[in-house]
This record gives sequence, structure tokens and C-alpha cells, in this order.
Amino acid sequence: MARYVGPVCRLCRREGVKLFLKGDRCNTPKCALGERKNRNYAPGQHGQQQRRKLSNYGVQLREKQKLRRIYGLTERQFRNYFHKATLQKGASGENFLVLLERRLDNAIFRMGFADSRSQARQIVRHGHVLVDGHKVNIPSYQVKVGQVISLKEKSKNKPFFLDIIEHAKNKKAPVWMEADYEKVQGKIVGLPAREDIDTQVDELLVVEFYSK
Ligand code: SF4
Repeated sequence: MARYVGPVCRLCRREGVKLFLKGDRCNTPKCALGERKNRNYAPGQHGQQQRRKLSNYGVQLREKQKLRRIYGLTERQFRNYFHKATLQKGASGENFLVLLERRLDNAIFRMGFADSRSQARQIVRHGHVLVDGHKVNIPSYQVKVGQVISLKEKSKNKPFFLDIIEHAKNKKAPVWMEADYEKVQGKIVGLPAREDIDTQVDELLVVEFYSK
């Protein structure tokens, strides 16, 4: 199935929780689930009907969809990550999250060089990103420990990036990366552990969903 390109606030409304897909706007009263709008009901004609009680399968499905939507992946990409995670040693759920976190677009977002993961994906796709000094325009590229991620010299001075970098200074990169906002670059200093990943999902439910 193709990537969803419709209004993303609908996705949050479907899940009934904030998925933070629109960057800074998600923390303002303009958020569809914020106090001002308070559209905390599912989208569509029957959305305002009471949410039905979910079966076990339904709960697992919703958790899977939530995680998939946070990272903005298609079902096939998402399932492939799960398959890779099961082939690794250790807990599949944690491996799964680590694989998702190590995507280059996610790393750019986590460093604060993009407002959202979808914006980070665009930045990578348009060839603005260097990994160890080499251009990488593949959003799914898996970053490795010790690699330095930066923006192209030409891109750094564009008003779009100057604005983003100014904003980024107020953010805090996770412990598994070091961000240098003067040089506009970040270094991967380790792989994230589960407690370093602030994604609010129960990955065990996702494992259960795919293990049927
Ligand atoms: Fe979701 Fe609110 Fe952000 Fe829209 S603004 S994507 S509803 S968190």
C-alpha cells in the first residue's frame, strides 16, 4: 500500500492520542486533540459515535498502527523491520524499536534538524544530508555508532535551515547522539536502549500482533 499523504491529524484522531506528526504545532492549542479544538473523536461520518470496546486483537492492531504511523512507514516496510528484529538476538520488541530509531530520517528528527519525521524524510530525499561527509539520500539508511551526520555546506545557509537550526537549539538530543548546533552536525555515540526511546507505545502488543 502506498504511503499515506492525507491530513495527518486524522491519524491522531483515529488512535485517540497525539502522535506528534506536525512538529511544533502539536504542542500548541491548534492541535486537533488540544483543548481549543478538542476533536478527540475518530474522523469520518460516524466518528462522533462512542468508541467501541476493542477485542485483544483490536488492541494489538491499534498499537501496531500507532507505531507505524509515528514513523510514517508503509505496512510492508514496517513488517520487514519486524522480521529483521526477530532475526536479531535479544527482545524482538526492543530490537524493532531500535531499528526504527536508527533510520536516517529519524536521526535527523531526533537531533532537531527537522520539525517532524516527514520533514526529515524530505530533507534526506532532497540530498541535504551527509553521513561521514558523503551524501546519503535514503531515509531508511541505518545509522551506525561513530557516524557523523551533518547538513551540506550549501544547505546550512538557506533561510529554511537557519530557522530550523535556531529552533533546534531549544531542543535536546537523546543520550545516544551528540548534537552540535554551531557546526550543524550530530554524532551517533551509541545505540538507544528502550528507556532512551520516548515513543509512547507498548511494543509487546506489536510483537503479539505479528506473532500470530
Ligand atoms: Fe496529532 Fe495534534 Fe500533531 Fe495534529 S497537531 S498531528 S492531532 S499531535
